[in-house]
Amino acid sequence: MPGTESLFPTLLDAPDLVAATEPGPFAAVAIEQSIDKSLDYAIPPKLLPLLKVGQRVRAPLGRKNRPALGYVIAIRDECAFPNVKRILAIDDDRVLVPPRLMELARWMSRYYCTPLGTVLETIVPSAVRKRIGLGYVQKVALAQPREEVQAIIEKTKASKRRAILGRLLQLESDDAIDIVRLAGESGATVPTIRKLARLGFITITPEVDLPGLARPAGSSAPAEPALALNEDQQKSFDELCPRVTSGGFSVNLLMGVTGSGKTEVYLQCIREVVNRGKRAIVLVPEIALTPQAVLRFTARFSGVAILHSGLTATERHRYWQMISMGHANVVVGARSAIFAPVPELGIIVVDEEHEASYKQDQAPRYHGRDVAVKRGQIENVPVLLGSATPSLETYYRVSAAKAEGKRPKDEVNAAPLSAFSLQPSALPSYHLLTLPRRVRGLAMPHVEVVDMKVENRFRRGVHLLSQRLEHLLRTTIEAGHQAILLLNRRGYSNFVYCASCNEPIHCHYCDTTMTYHRMAGAKAKGASLAEGLHTGQLHCHYCLAVNPLPDSCPNCKKKLTLFGLGTQRVEEELAKKFPELKFARVDSDSMRSAKDYELLLGRFANREIQVLLGTQMIAKGLDYPNVTLVGVISGDTALALPDFRAAERTFQLITQVAGRAGRGDSAGRVVLQTFLPTDPTIQAAIRQDFVGFAKMELEHRRSTSLPPITRMVRIVLRDQEPDKLQHQSEVLAAALVDAAAPEGDRVRLKGPMPCAINRIAGYYRNQIVMVSPSAAPLQRVLARVREKGALAKNDRIAVDVDPVSLL
Ligand code: ADP
Ligand code: ZN
Repeated sequence: MPGTESLFPTLLDAPDLVAATEPGPFAAVAIEQSIDKSLDYAIPPKLLPLLKVGQRVRAPLGRKNRPALGYVIAIRDECAFPNVKRILAIDDDRVLVPPRLMELARWMSRYYCTPLGTVLETIVPSAVRKRIGLGYVQKVALAQPREEVQAIIEKTKASKRRAILGRLLQLESDDAIDIVRLAGESGATVPTIRKLARLGFITITPEVDLPGLARPAGSSAPAEPALALNEDQQKSFDELCPRVTSGGFSVNLLMGVTGSGKTEVYLQCIREVVNRGKRAIVLVPEIALTPQAVLRFTARFSGVAILHSGLTATERHRYWQMISMGHANVVVGARSAIFAPVPELGIIVVDEEHEASYKQDQAPRYHGRDVAVKRGQIENVPVLLGSATPSLETYYRVSAAKAEGKRPKDEVNAAPLSAFSLQPSALPSYHLLTLPRRVRGLAMPHVEVVDMKVENRFRRGVHLLSQRLEHLLRTTIEAGHQAILLLNRRGYSNFVYCASCNEPIHCHYCDTTMTYHRMAGAKAKGASLAEGLHTGQLHCHYCLAVNPLPDSCPNCKKKLTLFGLGTQRVEEELAKKFPELKFARVDSDSMRSAKDYELLLGRFANREIQVLLGTQMIAKGLDYPNVTLVGVISGDTALALPDFRAAERTFQLITQVAGRAGRGDSAGRVVLQTFLPTDPTIQAAIRQDFVGFAKMELEHRRSTSLPPITRMVRIVLRDQEPDKLQHQSEVLAAALVDAAAPEGDRVRLKGPMPCAINRIAGYYRNQIVMVSPSAAPLQRVLARVREKGALAKNDRIAVDVDPVSLL
C-alpha cells in the first residue's frame, strides 16, 4: 500500500522534535484515543500551504514524542503555550471533517462529555481513516508558463527531460496527467519526473482514486412516479413544503399511525429538495435496511447511497468518498449515517424516531435523532421525524412548543428544547403533523385481549398459545393468509429454577439469571427436563458466558425446572400443535447476518413461510399485505423491567407489531396475551391510543420528575473490587456535589447506588444519576467536573447524557 512516504515525499523531513516558540500560525489538534484536550502544534513551513482544518495529521505526543494521529480542529495565529512541537505530517490530504461536521463534533464533545478526538473517530468511518481500498494517482502539471517551458526544452541537453516537458506541453493548459502514464508516454522514469518537480518545473499532486468508485444505486433506473397523496398526506405535505423549499431550521414530527403512508411524505419532501440541487440524509433503524424498504428510495431517486452494517470496508469507503464528492443525492443509513459528509444538505429525515437503537451504547453515547436535530440546526435545514409511536421526548417538545406562548417563562426554560443550543433563547421551532388514518381507507387492526390468568385456569399443562390465538392462527392459515407472532425474549426459558433451594441459576459473572437455550438442531419434540431430553446450554445475555445445563441443582442435587418463556419455547409449541405449519424463528440467535434476514424475508414475501415468530426484530417496518394476524405472546415482558421507560417500550412494541396486520385488502386482527389485562399501558395499547397513553405517561413522569419533563445524566462506574468501586463512586459523587452547588436546587443528585444489574462480566457497577428541569445546569456541572479531569480518560466511568436505558 502506498504509505505516507510515497504520497508526500517532501513532508517527511519535517523535524519532529522542535520545542520552541516560533511565529504562527499554529494548529490545534484533537488527538484520537481520548485525550480530553486539544493540543497546539507549530506548522512546519512546508506544510503551511497544504494544511487545512479537518485534515488528519501525525503529531508527536508525550515525552517520547510518539507519533499520534489527530485532526486539525483550528488554525490560529496565537498559541497559549510558550513551547510547542511541530506537526510531523499530513496523514491524508483530504478534508475528512468538513467545517459543519466539525461544529457538530465540537457540540457532541461538549454535550456528550466525550473527548473531541473520540467523537471525530466516530464521525470518520475507520475504512476512511485507514484509506482502505483507496489509491492515489499522482497528477503532473506544468508549474511555469508555456513559453518558458518551451525555452527550457530548447536549451536542455537531457533528452528525458525534453520528452517529459514536451508531453506536458501537449496538454490543455491547467490539465494534468497521471505520473505513470506520463512516464510511459515520455519514456522517462518516475524518479526523473520527480526530480523535475523538485527543480520547480512541474507540480505533482496526489489525487484520490478509488478504483471502481461505485455509482450509487439507482443511477440509471427510471424514476418511479410519485403516488397521488391522499387528503391527510397532502395536508401534511402542504404544511411541510414551504419549510422544505425555503430551507431554514425546523423540527417536524410526522405522527402517523402504522400504514398511514409516512414514507410517501418523506419521499415527496426529498423530491423537492433534490429538484433544487440539494441532498437528503434519511436515518432508519438498522433492521429496516432491508431491500424491501431500500427499494422505495432507489426506485424514486438516482444516486442513492445505502449505508448498512453489511458493507465491506472498501464499499463503505467508496460510498463515503462518493458522498463527500456530492455524487449521492440521498443517503439512507442507520445511526451513523447522520455523519455522512453530504455537501449542500437540504433535509434530514429520521424514520421511527422513537427507536432505542438510535442511541449508541459506547462513547460518545449519542442519540442519532438528537444529533440529527443538532445537525439540522447547524446546516439550517428542516428535520423530519416520523413515527406511529413518537418518543415522549419528541412528543413533549412538540406539545411544549405549541403551548410555549401560553406558559410562564420559567416553565418554557424548563422545556428540553433549550438543550440543543445550550442557549434558551434559540428555541427551535417544533411542528406536529398527523396522519390519523391508514392509506386506501384500510381499517386499523382490531386488537383483542386474552387474559392468560383465566386461560391457565381452564387448561392443563403449559400453553404459550391461548386457545383463541390457536384458533385464529388455524383459520388464518386455512384462508391462505400469513401471521406474525411476537415474543420479545430469545432463548427457551429465562429461569432455571431449583424449587428446593428456591433459587434460579445465576450467571457466575453477572447479577442476572441464566437463560436456557436449546441446541440448534435439537428437534422440537415437546421434551421436558424431567424426561432428561433437554440438551442445551445456559447463556448469560449480558456477558455472553455459556455453560452446560446441569443435570440437577448444583447445590442440592434436586431436580431443576425450566421457567419463563423465550422464542425457542414457542417454536417448540408451534411445531407440536401445528405439525404442518411452515414457520421460521427470527431472533439474533437464528439470524446471524443481515443476509440471513433478507433471505428469510424474501421467503416470507413469496409465501413459502406462513408464520414468522420472533423478537422485536419483526415488530417494525415490515409491510406484507397478506399478513392478517398478529399474536403478541406476552404483552408483559417489558413491563416488569426496572426502567422508567418500561411502559413506553411496551406501548411502542405492541402498537408497532399490531401495525403489521391488515395492510392488504383483508382486515387485520391482533391477539394480545397478557397477565395484566387491566394495566393502563396495556389498555392504551389495546385502543392503540398514543395520545391518551402519552398524556397519562407524561403525567406520571411529571409527578416523579423524570425525563422528558426533566433532563437526566447517568454516570456508571465499574470495578472488579467492590470496595474500590465504592470509594471511587463516593469521590466522584463528592466532586459532583461540589460542582452542582452553584446550581442550587436546579440539579438533584442521586447515588452512588448499585445499578439494577449490580455486576456484569465480573465488574461491579454503581450509578450516580443527576436530574434537572433543563439541560444547561447539567451541562455546567459536567463541564466543571470534567475540567478537573475527574471524568477524563477513564474507561471505568461512563457518562450517559439523556440515557435511554437504566439497567
Ligand atoms: P407507514 O410508514 O406510515 O407505516 P408506509 O409508508 O409504509 O406507511 O405506507 C404503507 C403502504 O401504503 C405502502 O405500501 C405505500 O406504498 C402505500 N401508500 C402510501 N401512500 C399511498 C397513497 N397515497 N396511495 C396509495 N398507497 C399509498
Ligand atoms: Zn454474565
